[in-house]
Amino acid sequence: MTHPFLDLPPLTADRFAAIERRVARLLATEQDVVITQGEALLPLEGCIRGGARPGSTALNVVTGPYGQTFGNWLRDCGARVVDLTVPFHTAVTADQVAEALAGHPEIDFVSLVHAEAATGNTNPVAEIGEVVRGHGALFMLDAVASVGAEPLLPDAWGVDLCVIGAQKAMGGPAGVSAVSVSARAWERLAANPAAPRRSYLSLLDWKERWIDAGRTALPHAPAQLEMLGLEACVARIEDEGPETVMARHASAAAATRAGAVALGGGLEPYVHEARDAAPVATTLRAPAGTDAAVLVAGALAADPALPLVAGGGALSKEMIRVNHYGADATRGAVLSSLAALGAVLADAGLPVDIEAARRAVSETWPSL
Ligand SMILES: *Cc1c(COP(=O)(O)O)cnc(C)c1O
Repeated sequence: MTHPFLDLPPLTADRFAAIERRVARLLATEQDVVITQGEALLPLEGCIRGGARPGSTALNVVTGPYGQTFGNWLRDCGARVVDLTVPFHTAVTADQVAEALAGHPEIDFVSLVHAEAATGNTNPVAEIGEVVRGHGALFMLDAVASVGAEPLLPDAWGVDLCVIGAQKAMGGPAGVSAVSVSARAWERLAANPAAPRRSYLSLLDWKERWIDAGRTALPHAPAQLEMLGLEACVARIEDEGPETVMARHASAAAATRAGAVALGGGLEPYVHEARDAAPVATTLRAPAGTDAAVLVAGALAADPALPLVAGGGALSKEMIRVNHYGADATRGAVLSSLAALGAVLADAGLPVDIEAARRAVSETWPSL
């Protein structure tokens, strides 16, 4: 008996290349797209180790935990790192980036996270890209949490290295990721003697052995199931229409924000300004005197399928994340999440109004 996902014919080079073209179309990019065979941290680390020369200076924008990780990799590469850190309840501005670049003209690499699923903020990449292009530095963007949830235009925004993953708003598998690489970025990687070669982290190996060789023979056995999962999730986004998918995420974020405010009981949006709040996920500040991890555990005990999680690490007491992305970017998921949070807050003796939260969700995200 053949098994539906074990006994598959090999994934051909043609099919692999076709999936790359579909991902490139989703990103509206003319640049080379490399589909990396692992989680998104793989191309992110590959971009940094390839792009940051020892002795060079990098600007690392920190708006959440991933930015902190990038700073550590950059230092590990021997780069001097200028960290531009903003509070996680806000976004960085293009003016702040311009000021940091003006203060350190030698900066030749900029790393930025577009949307932060972990902290719920999103940064104005189009404006920042203009500033970085004016300065001339290479621009790396972590768009893992923004792709599929909000507009992402690496070419128009001057992004040299744009990394995406499929498991957030794309509703796809976690074990595969992609990066678009500009011609400028290829030159920089090739000129960096410390760039990884003959390594799992090497983007240059993919260029040499796959892209420049005409995409006719795969250099390694591909992660077949994940590649098919990626193809399927891109097909589903094409069918629904990328604009519709993004609108669903934006509505889920706006409705969660409005619903949480209406629910009351001291629950508040974690990101102060709505314009800085990411469409991919909404973070909430747990009411004073409560513990976010305990509240989330209570809500999940009632319904384990809810897309709720407490903040990571030091944020676990104060932050509740509503991960309304992918298949959970629905009015139903938002309503059930708020109702479950309302129930645990009521149990804790806090004055909540679940009906008001429901009304706020319906008004913010009317059903057609
Ligand atoms: C989820 C996420 C990642 C990590 O993706 P993995 O595929 O789990 O490695 C990186 N950056 C951002 C902004 C994310 O939201």
